[in-house]
Amino acid sequence: MSLEVAHVCKDYPTRNGPLSVLRDVSLQLHRGEAVAIMGPSGSGKSTLLHILGTLDRPTAGSVKIEGKDPFSLGEHELADFRSRHIGFIFQDHHLLPQCSVLENVLVPTLVRRGNRAEAEAWARQLLDRVGLSQRLNHRPAELSGGERQRVAVARALVQHPVILLADEPTGNLDRRTAQSVAQLLLELHRQEQTVLVVVTHSAELARQFPQRLEMADGTLQSPEGPAP
Ligand code: ADP
Repeated sequence: MSLEVAHVCKDYPTRNGPLSVLRDVSLQLHRGEAVAIMGPSGSGKSTLLHILGTLDRPTAGSVKIEGKDPFSLGEHELADFRSRHIGFIFQDHHLLPQCSVLENVLVPTLVRRGNRAEAEAWARQLLDRVGLSQRLNHRPAELSGGERQRVAVARALVQHPVILLADEPTGNLDRRTAQSVAQLLLELHRQEQTVLVVVTHSAELARQFPQRLEMADGTLQSPEGPAP
């Protein structure tokens, strides 16, 4: 099992006492599996995605990625683990404005010493795959919204992650562009056999996923009722 989430709870301390956002979340995904998580604003979807991305710790419960508990690692080891295993795609792509498209895709590879030529060849291949081989030297400001998001998809895959996490990846795009970005994301997920977890409000995006879950009352439920 590549991603195993068991009975995860998350409380945020507030002035009025702890706010219980996740109450009991369990989820198991193998490589090649994808799930779309829907649910109203404020239901805890981003909180869960942050925990899956090892950016935030659960208050209780466990997360295992490729059999390992990332939260047992020290700070530096965890950062290294995250960069090797997890790719992120956010609604606002977070591209570096002063860097070219190719440099942006290579950013995650800079933290570790490795074969630069190999990394660059793979980055070029990914950019070709997302249809941007003619835009390698453009700055993000010189791209359309859909193109920027495709750069973000390529960047998320450059380290060959096991887990791909996306928060409203098509949120700021028009319908047609959203459709093409969604298709690319799903195709690349299948090709790379990642675990893909997408959080979205878009029923249109969620429909394209074989598995859909809804966040409600701090737990993940199948849209028809409690998850099995
Ligand atoms: P969603 O992504 O479904 O919109 P979030 O995970 O962002 O929901 O937020 C879930 C709830 O947790 C919200 O009510 C939000 O106000 C609260 N929350 C999120 N982060 C914090 C924090 N750092 N401290 C306190 N409350 C928080």
